[in-house]
Amino acid sequence: MAGNRTFSMIKPDAYEAGNTGAILKMMEEAGFRIVSMKLTRLTADNAGAFYAVHKERPFYQDLVSYMSSGPIVALILEKDNAVADFRKLIGATNPAEAEDGTIRKLFAKSIEANAVHGSDSDENAAIEGSFFFAETEKF
Ligand code: GDP
Repeated sequence: MAGNRTFSMIKPDAYEAGNTGAILKMMEEAGFRIVSMKLTRLTADNAGAFYAVHKERPFYQDLVSYMSSGPIVALILEKDNAVADFRKLIGATNPAEAEDGTIRKLFAKSIEANAVHGSDSDENAAIEGSFFFAETEKF
């Protein structure tokens, strides 16, 4: 059975561009409840650990420096079928391939600076949520 929580980040490009409010509004209007939310900034070490699965990819170092370049908003979101429905709401990794009306189509600047993160499985949603939030911060 699909889980009902996912983890998201509003990435540095979207925060810097002042799109945080608009993106949160799209999340809520799509039926996601905010379980946890934090404005914070990743160190390069934090970003490297978060994206460790991409260590061997050619863009890893760029991704780590981009993700630690400015504040991010970390979120746990709740909805039936959260992981799949949220991936649909954010759209393809590359905004050039993202469908109209998706968050990345509207706000992403490039394949790297693509406005938002969304977990790709229930297991990763739980791991990523706990990377940022204690159990007592999950409402
Ligand atoms: P996601 O699940 O849609 O976020 O995509 P991935 O898990 O494949 O990649 C993680 C993140 O790495 C993406 O959201 C982008 O920020 C970045 N990324 C992915 N592919 C590329 C790429 O080809 N070049 C660069 N520079 N960054 C990439």
